[in-house]
Amino acid sequence: MRLSRGFLPTLKEVPAEAQIASHRLMLRAGLVRQTSAGIYAWLPAGLRVLRNIEQIVREEQNAIGAQELLMPTVQSSELWKRSGRYDAYGPEMLRIRDRQDRELLYGPTNEEMITDLFGQVIKSYRELPQALYHVQWKFRDELRPRFGVMRGREFFMKDAYSFDASYEDAVAAYRRMMLAYLRTFQRLGVRAVPMKADTGPIGGDLSHEFLVLAPTGESGVFFDAALEEQDWLHEAVDIADHASLETFFSGVTKFYAATDEMHDEKAWEDVPADRRREGRGIEVGHIFYFGTKYTESMGISVSGADGNQFFPEMGSYGIGVSRLVGAIIEASHDEAGIIWPDSVAPYRAAILSLKPGDEAVDALCEQLYAAAPDAFLYDDRGERAGVKFNDADLMGHPWQMIVGPRGAKEGKVELKRRATGERFELTVKEALAKVLGTDAAGKDAA
Ligand code: ATP
Ligand code: MG
Repeated sequence: MRLSRGFLPTLKEVPAEAQIASHRLMLRAGLVRQTSAGIYAWLPAGLRVLRNIEQIVREEQNAIGAQELLMPTVQSSELWKRSGRYDAYGPEMLRIRDRQDRELLYGPTNEEMITDLFGQVIKSYRELPQALYHVQWKFRDELRPRFGVMRGREFFMKDAYSFDASYEDAVAAYRRMMLAYLRTFQRLGVRAVPMKADTGPIGGDLSHEFLVLAPTGESGVFFDAALEEQDWLHEAVDIADHASLETFFSGVTKFYAATDEMHDEKAWEDVPADRRREGRGIEVGHIFYFGTKYTESMGISVSGADGNQFFPEMGSYGIGVSRLVGAIIEASHDEAGIIWPDSVAPYRAAILSLKPGDEAVDALCEQLYAAAPDAFLYDDRGERAGVKFNDADLMGHPWQMIVGPRGAKEGKVELKRRATGERFELTVKEALAKVLGTDAAGKDAA
């Protein structure tokens, strides 16, 4: 993208309404604009981040055999009356009437709809297990929408649902999902610690929230420092069979980690004092086993091996895709702006032309830009160098390719790594190799 023609409105002023860094930076970097309370338009750079996160989430869901579908945002109240949640859900649900005076709602979540769809299709234990997911907008009329996309009213969520024939199978599905979540967050470049969460009337211990540690998080957290090291994750990456899945799961869950809601002072005292970590966290995911709650209340059964009907065991698994945009920034920024992890950055690099109109500079910038026009943001504006440096730091591109008249004459680019501030004097070929990886450079050289 050429910045001179981009829809990328960066702001110098700090927006008064934004209380936390990620919200301020998302507005200043031109990622989103609020259109009404808790509802945001995603501008091109913000949308690219959202899509990158969504795609990583999708790949890791697919990798454990979950199948993607897409359910609508608008649902009928009938479904929710069947489960008994229509009245129970309360004022967070946006209720709508159509012209026939039928009651509709904008889905806050999809347990009812997926259970109904499942029941229409799956009739026998032989067709189990099933794991289905979608990535779709949700609406919850939050009492206090705040912190930008972090607690919006309309937000983008991946929600997956598992259906199994037995408790043991449901536990295995839950563990596979936990592994998929850890891989997902690792690829997103963010540390999210799984913490024991409330299971309510279901009981048991199969409910975990994933929290990104950040001082502005809404939950207080208590955890064993061992969980920060995440060696158990690296060991877990190649898990294929049931036994290693079990070992992985007991490895993760043996360490104390709880939000303030679930904090247990007694168990906390058993954690060696030098390993106790307290802080705050942002909930970016939640996995939850709830047995036959919906299949039973909605009357969805399948036939078993013995010929009798039974209610499949379910779990649901959410990731706050739009919240993650804020959470990643909250965990990865400095005074100058955002520091995007490579995997989610809207652009891999900015090309900063320090002298538009200079023949050598223009030629070199065009040469760089042509190597990957979709991955690069080419700052070709007639602005001062200082403005370009500030905007590039603010927008947080992993790399900056700085092209000035002196270097351009020698075919040299100054490469800056946003995260570390490291700088390199490189030829075009070397710079592209570093920024794009060797494959792309090979193509360029050919
Ligand atoms: P919270 O306690 O933050 O309200 P929740 O328990 O209501 O979250 P879930 O129903 O488990 O959330 O939804 C799954 C995920 O969706 C959450 O882990 C969170 O990342 C995200 N999410 C929930 N509510 C919002 C919201 N209002 N805005 C943005 N993301 C949200
Ligand atoms: Mg909530």
